[in-house]
Amino acid sequence: MAVTPPKSLTRSLDVPAKLLMGPGPVNAPPRVLQAMTNPVLGHLHPEFCMVMDEVKDGLRYLFQTQAEVVCCISGTGHAGMEATMANLLERGDVILIADNGIWGERAAEMARRHEADVRVTKKPPGENFSLMELDLALAEHKPLVLFVVQGESSTGVLQPLEGIGSLCQKHGALLAVDCVASLGGVPMYMDKWGIDVLYSGSQKVISAPPAVAPIAFSDRAIKRVKGRKTPVRSFYTDILWLANYWGCDEGPRKYHHTGPVSSIYALREALAIACDEGLESLWNRHRLCSKKLSDGLANLGLEMFVSDPAKRVPTVNTIKVPEGVDFMKVIKHFMSKYRVEISGGLGPSAGKVWRVGLMGHNCTEDNVDLVLKIFKEALAEAGVTMSKL
Ligand code: PMP
Repeated sequence: MAVTPPKSLTRSLDVPAKLLMGPGPVNAPPRVLQAMTNPVLGHLHPEFCMVMDEVKDGLRYLFQTQAEVVCCISGTGHAGMEATMANLLERGDVILIADNGIWGERAAEMARRHEADVRVTKKPPGENFSLMELDLALAEHKPLVLFVVQGESSTGVLQPLEGIGSLCQKHGALLAVDCVASLGGVPMYMDKWGIDVLYSGSQKVISAPPAVAPIAFSDRAIKRVKGRKTPVRSFYTDILWLANYWGCDEGPRKYHHTGPVSSIYALREALAIACDEGLESLWNRHRLCSKKLSDGLANLGLEMFVSDPAKRVPTVNTIKVPEGVDFMKVIKHFMSKYRVEISGGLGPSAGKVWRVGLMGHNCTEDNVDLVLKIFKEALAEAGVTMSKL
């Protein structure tokens, strides 16, 4: 029987407005959404190439890098992770993963699929790695690549990065960093900190729709890719092809794939907003809002999952679910009554925490006040008698 046009598509698109206060995506501001209504251009038209160049400029500022190879993978944060593994690793190469949450686990899984020799150094969820621990692990495993996550969004942990690059250089390793959940919310100095591959996502602090993964390769990392014995196994994420398409080499730009034109417009505008505010102000805003949130939660008698405030990433705040409380009920209260999204845990924190995102456009004192108000109400409704409620 012939397949007929579906009835569902005769209705008009109906998307409710929600306030996204989970770990991402976050709401894109009107200027960013508006950007996507511009005419679609060809993916190699000079006007679009100019937009790509402006995106590279914005990313160099956010990453604090002068690296030549700065571009985007057409895909979400996972695509950035995949590109990192695909480009750096060949069969049997040793990669050391600093694993303190789900993102370390994912990275290890990806690296195994590239047939790397995956070594893992682990810390319990809620903890980060000291320089001494990483130094010892590097000495033991002598990896080609060390992978760390700056903002572990499954646990709410911040990994300090200063000093890790020098350790990697001492041990002859490349340093790859995931800053999907942290870029723009906490300091990042790719060059100063000796990071070789750095990737992020468009839908977190940057506040553009999910679609692209900004990524940068240091000269050392590019040298490694050029020195491979075997071709990069994933054509789509081959950084040398992408660098050419993004105008990061001597050119001329060649077709590699059709860039997500409208998403790049959105990213351009989101980066323009971030550059206009400035990094210091962005970092400060995230620090202050996160502090206001944790103070307010403490007043309600709630406890943060990461006990040491210095180890918390301000962009994804993890809150312990008190004994006897149905965490889903609280999440449902946020959504059904206020159309506000907060989320439960993920991986090692599943069932144990709520996660409240404070990122980019949504990181405001008003939103913190709203979240605190709803928490208070939801807990009271759930019949919880917290000490200070
Ligand atoms: N790394 C981290 C630290 C993340 O928080 C996320 C998204 N939550 C990812 C990687 C994967 O990104 P995406 O969902 O955009 O593929």
